[in-house]
Amino acid sequence: MTFFADAMLGKLARWLRTLGYDTAYQSDILDADLVQQVLHENRWLLTRDGYLVQRKVLQGRSTLIRSDDVREQLGQLHVELGLSLLLNQSTPSRCAACNALLESLPPEKATALVPPVVAKQYQDFVRCPHCHRLYWPGTHWLHLQQQLTALRARAIR
Ligand SMILES: [Zn+2]
Repeated sequence: MTFFADAMLGKLARWLRTLGYDTAYQSDILDADLVQQVLHENRWLLTRDGYLVQRKVLQGRSTLIRSDDVREQLGQLHVELGLSLLLNQSTPSRCAACNALLESLPPEKATALVPPVVAKQYQDFVRCPHCHRLYWPGTHWLHLQQQLTALRARAIR
């Protein structure tokens, strides 16, 4: 499933990318352009705009997000679209910042690009070919996994 997150949902877009979902996002886009991109790229629209989801062309391919809270938003997608909210891998597969697929980077190459303490502690590095951000399974990653575990537990109730 590939998504298009509207301008109100930047944080959700980052989470979905971290979870591995191809998620387009633009902070400033005209409704007409947004609709065209959703249709052209065959994406599922996530929006906070109740008028947008009433458009005929978007019916059956959009979800009206009810909450402003990103945890509630993920919970809604978990329940309504069956998103697993699972981080299976030790590193992310998609860049949270720009949606590109990440490429693994050999530790010997990563050593020059990260703080020495990180190079010493981690083996798995991935890099974004588009914006060159580097990712590794640090404490941030563990924190994300804990948050998702809590979310899944909450959604079941
Ligand atoms: Zn990137």
